Amino acid sequence: GPRPERPHVVLVASPGAGHLMPMAELARRLVAHHALAATLVTFSDISANPDAHSTAVLSSLRAANVSTAALPAVPLDHLPTDARIETVLLEVIGRSIPHLRALLRDVGSTAPLAALVPDFFATAALPLASELGVPGYIFFPSNLSALSVVQRAVELNDGAGAGEYRDLPDPLPLPGGVSLRREDLPDGFRDSKEPVYAHLIDEGLRYRTAAGFLDFKKAAEQGRFPPAYPVGPFVRSSSDEGGASSPCIEWLDRQPTGSVVYVSFGSAGTLSVKQTAELAAGLKDSGHRFLWIVRMPSLDGEHSDDMGRKSRGGGDENDPLAWLPEGFLERTRGRGLAVASWAPQVRVLSHPATAAFVSHCGWNSTLESVSSGVPMVAWPLYAEQRMNAVVLSENVGVALRLRVRPDDGLVGREEIAAAVRELMEGEDGRAVRRRTGDLQQAADLAWAPDGSSRRTLEEVAGRWKAGAVGETFVVSS
Ligand code: UDP
Repeated sequence: GPRPERPHVVLVASPGAGHLMPMAELARRLVAHHALAATLVTFSDISANPDAHSTAVLSSLRAANVSTAALPAVPLDHLPTDARIETVLLEVIGRSIPHLRALLRDVGSTAPLAALVPDFFATAALPLASELGVPGYIFFPSNLSALSVVQRAVELNDGAGAGEYRDLPDPLPLPGGVSLRREDLPDGFRDSKEPVYAHLIDEGLRYRTAAGFLDFKKAAEQGRFPPAYPVGPFVRSSSDEGGASSPCIEWLDRQPTGSVVYVSFGSAGTLSVKQTAELAAGLKDSGHRFLWIVRMPSLDGEHSDDMGRKSRGGGDENDPLAWLPEGFLERTRGRGLAVASWAPQVRVLSHPATAAFVSHCGWNSTLESVSSGVPMVAWPLYAEQRMNAVVLSENVGVALRLRVRPDDGLVGREEIAAAVRELMEGEDGRAVRRRTGDLQQAADLAWAPDGSSRRTLEEVAGRWKAGAVGETFVVSS
């Protein structure tokens, strides 16, 4: 295990694999490169599906000398059944604070505490940092425009309360030339009358009490928010996904270089049955090779995430591939592979056969794609993904965005086939491919041994170690 005298950082990851994975990578690096000890704390699972993947991430962390701790389940029966996922997350976190306090006391009794690092959804933990006299840093591994949106919403609503919240302007101008239309704002920020909006403003107000943000890039303007330390991107290496044989990789090994379109919607994104059929037809019509990670369709006819509480049918209905259109697998055999549920994504993206990524624009997936030099077709579904898609397609230039059909709200097969062809073969696609290559080089440099991100994290870690509180404090190097 870690040396007991090492100053100890406690990291708090809000529920969901997309939140856990980058924080796990931060914890691993703090222990491996910066002579700190770390405990990564998770909340009780709110997903309807057992999250086997998160379990694997946590056990690989323990193998890397990072301690892990899961807080006990908390009652949620007071919530309305249609509560938004963001509300559920914030409730779980808020109600778990007494358990987290007990855990921090425990850790603090055996090691000097150096810092408390909740992610951007878990800032209800920040008051514990002041209670214990340690700095609280917010882990914000997201698009910086997301931080700007929170900042604008908080400023606009400073002093507001009890139903008096004001809507953000439409469109919302943001630093870096980004202009967001209301429909592209992150979920929860579109309508000030939704209960979750007030929750998010509270969350944003707590940002002001932090000592700093750990994030990907330096923010353009901070207002009354604390300084941001650019220490990312936190992309795990493909070797961290295990060298075990995988049907995806074995299949990619047999495909020509730069020929395959990878299709995946993250750890929680789902499509309706109708939308799944359009995607299948679009991939077939594109004429290109594809590797499609198929998740269970949402049965309510809408795009959504499956962290909510949905019931599933039994038997064959539990096989995602059983929901693909009749005959699709036969008609595309040899040219496409459909795999249920999960792929070793970093290995897939860094495989020489992979040329493009049809992505839901989750921020981890985005960074993984850019780090591998793979351009994207942007297909945002929920949370802050529409905003990411705007930034990636209109500002950064590493993605082509798909448009939904106004009549039925679906992305049509023609749109999908055309975007895939454009990205793989077209002139606009060429510009996107070139731009992605440029950004890949910049990302490589940031985490090179003397890169800017690594040096910044060393600086922050040094400050934490120097201020660590505890009787047994000894500087280890
Ligand atoms: N992921 C994976 N295999 C899959 C689906 C997802 O390894 O089949 C990983 C992906 O590499 C990323 C994370 O799960 O690190 C998903 O995070 P992201 O922010 O992209 O989306 P979210 O799941 O939060 O919507």
